[in-house]
Amino acid sequence: MSAATLAPPAAALETVPMLIGGEWVRPATDSYETVYNPSTGAAIARTPLGAAAEVESAVAAAAKSLAAWDHTPVVERARVMFKYRALLDKHFDELAGLVTREHGKTLAEARAELQRGIEMVEFACGIPSLIMGDNLPNIAGDVDAETVRHPVGVCVGITPYNFPAMVPLWMFPVALVCGNTFILKPSEKVPLSAVRMGELLEEAGLPDGVFNIVHGGRACVDALLAHPQVAAISFVGSTPVAKYIYTTGAANGKRVQSAGGAKNHLIVMPDADIDQTVKALAASAYGCAGQRCMAGSIAVTIGSAGDNVVDELVRYAGKLKVGASDNAPEIDMGPVIRAEHRERVASYLDIAKSEGAEVPLDGRKEFPNDKFLIGPSIVDRVAPTMRVAKEEIFGPVLSVVRVDDLESALALGEQCEYGNGAAIFTRSGYAAREFKRRFNAGMIGINVGVPAPMAWFPFTGWNRSFFGDLHVQGKEGIAFYTRQKTTLTRWPKADDSHVDPVWRGRR
Ligand code: NAD
Repeated sequence: MSAATLAPPAAALETVPMLIGGEWVRPATDSYETVYNPSTGAAIARTPLGAAAEVESAVAAAAKSLAAWDHTPVVERARVMFKYRALLDKHFDELAGLVTREHGKTLAEARAELQRGIEMVEFACGIPSLIMGDNLPNIAGDVDAETVRHPVGVCVGITPYNFPAMVPLWMFPVALVCGNTFILKPSEKVPLSAVRMGELLEEAGLPDGVFNIVHGGRACVDALLAHPQVAAISFVGSTPVAKYIYTTGAANGKRVQSAGGAKNHLIVMPDADIDQTVKALAASAYGCAGQRCMAGSIAVTIGSAGDNVVDELVRYAGKLKVGASDNAPEIDMGPVIRAEHRERVASYLDIAKSEGAEVPLDGRKEFPNDKFLIGPSIVDRVAPTMRVAKEEIFGPVLSVVRVDDLESALALGEQCEYGNGAAIFTRSGYAAREFKRRFNAGMIGINVGVPAPMAWFPFTGWNRSFFGDLHVQGKEGIAFYTRQKTTLTRWPKADDSHVDPVWRGRR
């Protein structure tokens, strides 16, 4: 791939529209974020950075549509999702191409992301069963109790750049089938997939105003967080922003689920199958160029696993085909999102060396002058106190910490501020069981390098990888997007002289 080309002047770029009350609009603004194709470095669109005015209109539209949508029978809400699923399937290749184009991940990775997102829609199609309440007749003398689920109201989704289709799909299908209305604020770096998914929702028959899209940065998010008619916020992004969203949203009386960054450990026991483990480690660390919240970031090798794994991994990772991913199905790893991000990722290799680690595979070597591409890197003999061991790099860099035993690996988990995922590679059931029970993270893989749960199970990040209590996906997602109402009923025996005698006799 060639170096990034110069971006055309911003005004020549197509402005990405917002969806407000069923209208696609391009409100006047002075402020834009450029959308790039990381494979070519070319600017491909510009995202208008809206703020209070656009948020006000979107919330008004969502609030206005709420009562009718809530009153729509749940099976009809589910039918919209069935149609939506068919449309996502019909436009699968187009959408996957769009994800690759604006994000830079390979086409295979974009297809996998979209498939995971479609599974959320499939889950949401089951809403008539999922939203059912509980009841207990005669809980007290002649008193019946029942609990039913109501929507919470206007819900907001604020999403990151690394999964332009899947992360929005974690949120709005479930929120909508629960009877809520929704405002999506996609990452300003990758708004194109979100817009296309919004068009398809309209085509599926969703009434105007039920789903809205606003674009923007911090000012837009702040307006959403402060708006009194917003009931719930779903956020996915970096830890500092996740914490800010959680504390601000909660202080404003909203329910918040806020997923943050990660630093995921991959433990390799001496008895692990080295060939399979090396492939799994590489897929975990270098898939999506390391820009996944479930990416393996630290390989913790135990005893003799160290030499075996590092030598093989350097050989294997060094052979991955890295390059422009757009229209290039043969590529194993694409570019990172932005030139600044590439610089940031690369800087960790120097930081690691300055702190005493070794770099047996340096991803900069093959692409010394590229703005978006950096190859896979391995940093060996990392101490837990080094920055590469503690900070989220979010790029294709795998650090190796060598320890003597499983207890030391478990201790690394305790020291880590994050707690998204972790995996162990072993043939020992005992080691796997200990690891599963004791490792300080919310999603565990046993011989699975990316233990990201699918739609039917919650995405259970821990510690500073998640703020809130109800996660996205599975039954927790339904609980987040609904509030319960409990009714106690007693019907005293009445004077029934007004009732038709035919029925009176049947009481
Ligand atoms: P980010 O935090 O920079 O941005 C996420 C969203 O927040 C965007 O929509 C952005 O516009 C908005 N935002 C950014 N700064 C803000 C601020 N100061 N105030 C208010 N809003 C702000 O994250 P990113 O770089 O787009 O995504 C990468 C991060 O997301 C990584 O840390 C990754 O681990 C994390 N992530 C986590 C999960 C998870 O499930 N835990 C999943 C995917 C990504």
